[in-house]
Amino acid sequence: MRVIMLVDMDYFFVACEELRNKDIIGKPTVVGFDPKEGKGRGVVMTCNYEARKFGIRSGMPISMAYRLKPDAIYLPLDYDWYEKVSKDVMSVIKERATKFEQVSVDEAFIDVSDKVTDFDEARIYARRIKDDIRSRIGLPCTIGVSYNKLLAKMACESAKPNGIGVVTESEAKAFLEGKSTDDLYGVGRKTKERLEAMGYRTVGELAKANPMDMMEHFGAFGIELHDYANGIDSSEVNENYEIKSISREYTFERDTSSEKDVIGAIDRLANEVIGDVKKNGFAFKVVTLKIRYSDFSEHLRSRSIRYSNDVREIMNVCAQLYRDNAEKERKVRKIGVRVSGFIKRKGQKSMEDFAK
Ligand SMILES: [Mg+2]
Repeated sequence: MRVIMLVDMDYFFVACEELRNKDIIGKPTVVGFDPKEGKGRGVVMTCNYEARKFGIRSGMPISMAYRLKPDAIYLPLDYDWYEKVSKDVMSVIKERATKFEQVSVDEAFIDVSDKVTDFDEARIYARRIKDDIRSRIGLPCTIGVSYNKLLAKMACESAKPNGIGVVTESEAKAFLEGKSTDDLYGVGRKTKERLEAMGYRTVGELAKANPMDMMEHFGAFGIELHDYANGIDSSEVNENYEIKSISREYTFERDTSSEKDVIGAIDRLANEVIGDVKKNGFAFKVVTLKIRYSDFSEHLRSRSIRYSNDVREIMNVCAQLYRDNAEKERKVRKIGVRVSGFIKRKGQKSMEDFAK
């Protein structure tokens, strides 16, 4: 029997802030960009459940959050602190896992198949992990438990916050049936709309679709989707989870058409990106520039180079991509810098070394 868990920290950035500032506990708190009395740009990164009571959500423009609750506590992002807390959390989770795969700063899949014999034991085991994290780090989390990653993730979603959700094989069909198709992994707004047009609103309906039909519309992904709708996911908890890209973005205070502003932002972002590149001991061979204009349209331009871990390479390529491709008459709202196509440089420290 396979037993997979997804451990997901609750309102992680705010929870990290609570760790070092007990005064904010129980008060509506938002971590994100400076709201500037409703004029601020950028979005809410995380908010706690007290803030959610006022309609605030992560991903929402910070100005909108401010309109909903001007006297909430607004805190700036402090990634260094969150990453430090994350490392502590992850090492607690790792201790309990046979296989461990960190998916993001606050989420990890674990395979515990050889630690328990059935799902009753799995629930107790999940409780133990939750208690470990609570007592040793001081943070709440939610754990989804099932027989594959897909359902562990979905069980976790439906048990938030501060819960344990278990979906066994015999419960899977009933659990999935009423869910919306975009609750499935890999289904975004567009796919959801296409599925709806084909007559599939719920996962239950999708489960009964003809796989060949799905194949015709979505290619191999269609078969995967049909599998997901039937609770089938054979992907392993992948211990050698690899970082595929490293990126940073910046939203301008005011939309700008000044080349100097844009190049300045590129240089700052490149410096942030290179920090992560070096920490992982990577060299990259693809550099991508993302430009979002004031009308929210987005343009991506990439260039392949010889393997490098030089910050000037990122700056130069991005500046060139901007000069060659930007539509100069339009104002820029946001700039993103990304590198990918990594190899590990020999003799460099890896993430693991840093975790020690
Ligand atoms: Mg989380």
